[in-house]
Amino acid sequence: MTSSSTPALPHRGARPAARIVAFSVLSCLTLTAPAGAQVAGPHPYRPGVDVLDYAITLDLPDRGASIDGRAVLAVRRTAPVDTLVLDLVSLRVDSVLVNGQPVPFARTDSVIRIPLWRVVGDSFSVAVRYGGEPKDGLIIRTDSTGRWTGFGDNWPNRARNWIPGVDHPSDKATVTWTVRAPIGRKVVANGELAEETPLPTQAGSSPRTVTRWREARPIPMYLMVIAAAPLVYYDLGREGCGAGEFDACVRQSVYVYPELRDYLPGPFAQAAGMVRLFSELIAPFPYEKLAHLQSSTRYGGMENAGAIFYSDAAFRRRSLRPGLIAHETAHQWFGDAVTEREWSHVWLSEGFATYFEKLWIERTGGDSAFRAELRRVREQIIKAPEVASRPVIDTAQTDLMKLLNTNSYQKGGWTLHMLRALVGDSAFFRGLRSYYLANRHSTALTDDLRRAVEGSSGRPLGWFFDQWLRRPGFAEVTTSWRYDAEQRRIVATIAQGARFGAYRFPLTVSVTDGTGRERRATIDVPASASSTIVIPLEVDGTPRTVTFDPDARVLGTFVTR
Ligand SMILES: [Zn+2]
Repeated sequence: MTSSSTPALPHRGARPAARIVAFSVLSCLTLTAPAGAQVAGPHPYRPGVDVLDYAITLDLPDRGASIDGRAVLAVRRTAPVDTLVLDLVSLRVDSVLVNGQPVPFARTDSVIRIPLWRVVGDSFSVAVRYGGEPKDGLIIRTDSTGRWTGFGDNWPNRARNWIPGVDHPSDKATVTWTVRAPIGRKVVANGELAEETPLPTQAGSSPRTVTRWREARPIPMYLMVIAAAPLVYYDLGREGCGAGEFDACVRQSVYVYPELRDYLPGPFAQAAGMVRLFSELIAPFPYEKLAHLQSSTRYGGMENAGAIFYSDAAFRRRSLRPGLIAHETAHQWFGDAVTEREWSHVWLSEGFATYFEKLWIERTGGDSAFRAELRRVREQIIKAPEVASRPVIDTAQTDLMKLLNTNSYQKGGWTLHMLRALVGDSAFFRGLRSYYLANRHSTALTDDLRRAVEGSSGRPLGWFFDQWLRRPGFAEVTTSWRYDAEQRRIVATIAQGARFGAYRFPLTVSVTDGTGRERRATIDVPASASSTIVIPLEVDGTPRTVTFDPDARVLGTFVTR
């Protein structure tokens, strides 16, 4: 996602999160599996269960904010647990059925605890009837002209305010939405439209429509959304043909309020080109369609699978940036189709979306625009206090909103840029494609990416991922050089500051000789406080200029002594 105010600093401008702590219920689950049966690393969020599918039926009100819902979950038990714990904040729970049979359940303000002693075998269904006014997650508002609007806005763990489920990115599932709403409200959701039918009018009630959408690819709960508002449809066509995973073409559209209809296609004229570029670089578009919606998300944009929500304000100001569309579109591959299994690896989502936005600039604006953009982003990273104090993979951070920072976005994106410089374009993109294809419609951690690029480049990369992602900071480099007339070579001295320790990186050096001819060479700078390196270029006479890192490929500060 992207912040609503300053795209440069995604954490600014985002309103504070509803402090719904994703508390662990490990102690509440009775695990009869032997100790140590779980995989190493962070504890699984809900060990022993895997939700495969959600069928969610919602009745939306004519006015007010009270909803009635029924969620039917298809669940698989992966270890002999005897209780299923579902997240659901505050709403009333009317009944719970397991395999169609009512069961006694325990309710706290944040979870429903469901006994599984009736279940024989590993697969079962759970049906929860519930209702009330969601405190968050489904944002219900009446706009200035009196129109009722409702939009899902779940990141990171706010889906639990309106959907009972396992609200963690490690558990992805398919979803079917069935929404009954007053006529005149367009209902849009993830996946493919399966039905949009007027319902027989009931006495004393306004005419209603039932709308059904089906997402056949597993997605995390934070991406499961509906929109219900008086939106109008704008068809962007079916360009990008041959680029879709589902269809021969990728259908794209925009949904806006009627008064914004004449703004379109506006920046969305470039949406087809973005899908084409990312499909070409990585893999076919992963979902049934891609809709872009004017919404009430708290973020500038939110990458809900197949249905990107943008903040209302950017539409009303008619100032929506194409870069924002590129960022949210790139998330469909990275974040949505391949989801970080742990929140501390959120850079696999935000760093990728940030860098792919820059790749779109590279494609449309050329090399100099691309490099200027990377220099601008490098300045942001160097100035950010969290970059100096915390690593990108921040396992100590428990406030999920604070993970939306310069580390996850800009430094994560810059790390991909340096990885590309290190292994070269061919191995970089082959590695990204194999990482994507191996983890598509599933989840991944940073080591999955490391292994994929090690495979494509044939080089061990543990040191690279450790120094850029598991340590705070950036390189602080002081360079000097002298001309050795006897050898006809330039001898460079590279000193590194002590604040963040020394880094290892390839460094391009540009040398302009006395005749004005420019040549380049790349040297390997070791992770040491000071190194003296002979530049592998023969130079006649003292060069006119020697420039270090001319193309902005090292995340660091450069001072010439
Ligand atoms: Zn994002």
